Amino acid sequence: MGRVTVVTGIPGTGKTTVCNELSGLAKQSGKKITIINYGSVMLELSQERGKSIHRDEIRKFSVSFQHELQIEAARVISQRIAKTEGDVIIDTHMSIKTNDGYWAGLPFDVLQFLSPSLLVLVEAEPCEVLLRRFRDITRKRDKVLESEIAEEFVFSRLMAATCAVLTGASVKIVKNSTRKQVEAAKEILKLLEK
Ligand code: AMP
Ligand code: MG
Repeated sequence: MGRVTVVTGIPGTGKTTVCNELSGLAKQSGKKITIINYGSVMLELSQERGKSIHRDEIRKFSVSFQHELQIEAARVISQRIAKTEGDVIIDTHMSIKTNDGYWAGLPFDVLQFLSPSLLVLVEAEPCEVLLRRFRDITRKRDKVLESEIAEEFVFSRLMAATCAVLTGASVKIVKNSTRKQVEAAKEILKLLEK
């Protein structure tokens, strides 16, 4: 069974980019890591139920529907973790901005399935996030104000602190500044080598 690290970041922080760099660096150094994208597992599950949706539309559905997918995804991911050797990285979110307000990406029931030992918050300056959301034409990112992005960061940290209390996992904040995604990935890799 693999050791679990949760890598989170608000939309547009570049956490998936950092995870891809991490995967490349790990391969180069011969370290075995498996990256699981939580949103992709939720999408697969919704497709199995005959509901084909865009990944940026999941958060627009009712919280009860999202919770059904979220808990089912946690179950599926925990089965994958059980079969995996080496480090497992879960690319996900500390908090989701739903139509009903901020909602935990890792509530207690999900944490019990995943048992992470390390929580990583990928962060960037709000102005950088704004620009990344604006430029990314592959996604349907919410276009918001810089102050709202700052609020999303605060909420993610609050959720991370709660997860740390519930799991005993440590929380590491990793900056993903412009063109510094390799440095950010190296910082995470260093944590995995401990
Ligand atoms: P991403 O590609 O990482 O932005 O994820 C796509 C979408 O998947 C997010 O906007 C959320 O709606 C959903 N998602 C990802 N992780 C979680 C989670 N832990 N709990 C609930 N929804 C999640
Ligand atoms: Mg992503």
